[in-house]
Amino acid sequence: MRLTGGKVIVQKDIATPIRTKEILNKYGFSFKKSLGQNFLIDPNILRNITKFAGLTKETGAIEIGPGIGALTEHLARESKKVVAFEIDGRLFPILEDTLSPYDNVEILHQDILEANLQEIIPEKFSTIQDVMVVANLPYYVTTPIILKLLENNLPIRGMVVMLQKEVADRIAAKPGTKDYGSLSIAIQYYTTAETVMIVPKTVFMPQPNVDSAVIRLIKREQPAVEVLDESFFFHIIRISFSQRRKTILNNLTNGLEKGKEKKEDILKALNVAGIDPSRRGETLSIQEFGLLSDTLLPIFSGN
Ligand code: SAM
Repeated sequence: MRLTGGKVIVQKDIATPIRTKEILNKYGFSFKKSLGQNFLIDPNILRNITKFAGLTKETGAIEIGPGIGALTEHLARESKKVVAFEIDGRLFPILEDTLSPYDNVEILHQDILEANLQEIIPEKFSTIQDVMVVANLPYYVTTPIILKLLENNLPIRGMVVMLQKEVADRIAAKPGTKDYGSLSIAIQYYTTAETVMIVPKTVFMPQPNVDSAVIRLIKREQPAVEVLDESFFFHIIRISFSQRRKTILNNLTNGLEKGKEKKEDILKALNVAGIDPSRRGETLSIQEFGLLSDTLLPIFSGN
């Protein structure tokens, strides 16, 4: 809603199918599949996404890929300030028009994967303590985007993001399930992860080929396990899942440098960590991987 010359104009949500079509027609916009452009056309879904993010008038919101502004306007209404990264320059004149009622939105013409977030976040949110990422992600790059947002200890509380259901299942998976793997651990190491909504294809224009889900990732104050060497810990995890059907002992002896020569040492380390060598990687918890990595480290650190 905005006031013009004393008249109150009630503006329909951008995300209604009718208004979205009007906007697309007005600007002759054609979707680029290669940029993962599937726009949301259901205001209820958008309300739920912002609700799950726990936004307040003190919160800063970061959006990746505002499209024509469907989610952006909900973020603008519910938070103090929105900073959105959009790669497609064709959307800028549209966003200027659709988001004109809001004065707390800044759109940056940048590829999120190239953006210097360590500098941009503190600069744009200098007076804001609580920053959340909220986005309907472009599906061709969901994992690199999420990992980039988590790996550099950025000053954010977490994220609520829409992505392919299949990837959401892998991110939130528990040990011993078919979806559990190095992606689950990489993300659960930094966050508590939960799927908060399953979303049907019908709420998008155009409809994607896959089912979607919304996940909420809240950053932990400390990683899920304390390890001596983070990069060795992740190396052990990658190796342990390299052949899912093989035992942890097999994967470690095949994957670690000089692993075959050091098989006896690996067996001892598994013993010390209390892990049966015949188990598969997919049954180990993050804590067990932490213990295993710390026990193997002296054997493989060149000492
Ligand atoms: N937020 C809008 C919505 O929900 O209707 C659009 C979401 S659409 C799934 C993904 C958006 O991300 C598109 O606007 C696309 O142009 C943009 N995008 C794709 N790759 C990007 C990248 N690497 N950096 C920033 N934006 C990107």
